[in-house]
Amino acid sequence: MFEKVLVANRGEIAVRVMAACEELGIETVAVYSDADRNAGHVDYADEAYNVGPAPASDSYLDQEEIIDVAERAGTDAIHPGYGFLAENAEFARKVEATDDVTWVGPPSDAMETLGEKTKARTVMQEAGVPVVPGTTEPVDDPDQVRDLGEEFGYPIAIKAEGGGGGRGMKIVRSEAEVEDALESAQREGEAYFGNDSVYVEKYLEAPKHIEVQVLADEHRNVRHLGERDCSLQRRHQKVIEEAPSPALDADLRAEIGEAARQGVREAGYTNAGTVEFLVEDGEFYFMEVNTRIQVEHTVSEEVTGIDIVRWQLRVAAGEELAFSQDDVEIDGHSIEYRINAEDPANDFAPTPGPLETYKPPTSIGVRLDHAVAQGDEIGGDYDSMIAKLIVTGEDREHCLARSKRALDHFDVEGVHTTIPFHRLMLDDETFVAGEHTTKYLDQELDDDELDRAVDRWGSEAASADGDQTSTDEIAVEVDGKRFDVVIEDGLPRAPNGGATSDGSAGGSSGSGNPNVAAAGAITAEMQGTILSVEVEEGDEVAQGDVVCVLEAMKMENDVVASTSGTVDAVPIAAGDSVDMGDTLVTLE
Ligand code: ADP
Repeated sequence: MFEKVLVANRGEIAVRVMAACEELGIETVAVYSDADRNAGHVDYADEAYNVGPAPASDSYLDQEEIIDVAERAGTDAIHPGYGFLAENAEFARKVEATDDVTWVGPPSDAMETLGEKTKARTVMQEAGVPVVPGTTEPVDDPDQVRDLGEEFGYPIAIKAEGGGGGRGMKIVRSEAEVEDALESAQREGEAYFGNDSVYVEKYLEAPKHIEVQVLADEHRNVRHLGERDCSLQRRHQKVIEEAPSPALDADLRAEIGEAARQGVREAGYTNAGTVEFLVEDGEFYFMEVNTRIQVEHTVSEEVTGIDIVRWQLRVAAGEELAFSQDDVEIDGHSIEYRINAEDPANDFAPTPGPLETYKPPTSIGVRLDHAVAQGDEIGGDYDSMIAKLIVTGEDREHCLARSKRALDHFDVEGVHTTIPFHRLMLDDETFVAGEHTTKYLDQELDDDELDRAVDRWGSEAASADGDQTSTDEIAVEVDGKRFDVVIEDGLPRAPNGGATSDGSAGGSSGSGNPNVAAAGAITAEMQGTILSVEVEEGDEVAQGDVVCVLEAMKMENDVVASTSGTVDAVPIAAGDSVDMGDTLVTLE
């Protein structure tokens, strides 16, 4: 077994990996950026090294620097977590090429084969696994796409070869949309994944997202740990995940599990991985393989009792999986809630800020994966996840009841969170019945309901609204019985947080984030990456027009003009990194 492992990641997953190392008697090395000097994962590790400035491209993505630290620190393995370099076959290859450092993940060749979606589709097809109808070669000609539209019938999806999380995917509903969609999928692929190659798939209208966790060792043993249901999604991003799926019967479950196993075996894969499928009308179709540990691996651990990260390390060290497929038993039901610093009432816009209060729930059936503590600052440099709350019960019904209890006792103040959204879901008939598809939230979620949920269960974000009254809470005892008494300062509370939704200065996705400096300059409200620029010099824009799309904390934000005017200068281009306060566009 390894003696010292470098974890090339941050936040909860870095701590999760270090916890597994600790249990195996392995020393841990953290890397961190300037923005993370006081971060939880740094504190947790036995040793820590600064690898550069806040932007991930200068620190967590700096391949040479990370390998250099691994060697200097005398580590014998690198675990990449998820995100950052986790699915980067080039990085894996560089680690493999070192003398003493082992890559905790699949071989770089298998990562390359399965990471390119068209190659993965070919491999799966050859292994006899049904794939979503589509191409196994990249396409770049609109005519070719139109022919495919004709063949499969619209809608179709144009997907970036390197894409993920719904990014780099464009849905095309008619021939007329092909040209624009092709261009923008290529552009997003290039901007996000450095790869403008795209392919075409039939777009399923209302599928379930079902994925199978696999573990494989270097001795040709491949096991699956059952499926996860990640159908509850917002704009193709997972928000709640669970195991097992409420939508599969025993036959389909066994079939999908075997298909995943077969496909992975065929690709010469080792270590942990996830095979993703779409399921519609009792049919399943392979979508892609994620060649890494996933955010939602936790729910599989809870229902199987198998520590996936521990096995990642053991398998990478050459050990053989010690359990057979028949040994894997699914017991109970587990659901993961992503607790993000986002405002559900404002289109889930990220809300960085101080964790003034942070009191997570405890007690039976509750697991919390996080790397934060009360008093920490949730910064704007990385994604918006604060914690993962994982709740496990005897069956789904029990798990849902337990989830209500846990979320009710999750107390966060200082930033908005997704907790009110989760609580809303626990009262949602379709979710509770397990009948939701990947389209459910985008089609059915009602903004007014979200507003009410945030009103009812939301935190008091440290907001600039200035409409919060100051309150004092004191405890009094009357006849020995305790009462908590709230003393307000007499000012009336504005309803619904008091913010007018479109009134002021424009903002993200048509809501109230002031994004605009007063005098003609439209500035970035937070550090991020320019995804696209919608205007050029000399254009006339009207109030509310989108001038560019800014990605911050992994969310896309439309930046809109607060007034009408003529575009005077556009100092940015797609792919640029911008800091908070940087000028994006100036208007005359
Ligand atoms: P990832 O699983 O890495 O986030 P994708 O971007 O490929 O990768 O897919 C994200 C989500 O987009 C899926 O979970 C699903 O909801 C949706 N999706 C992808 N491909 C299709 C398709 N062909 N038809 C319908 N929905 C799709």
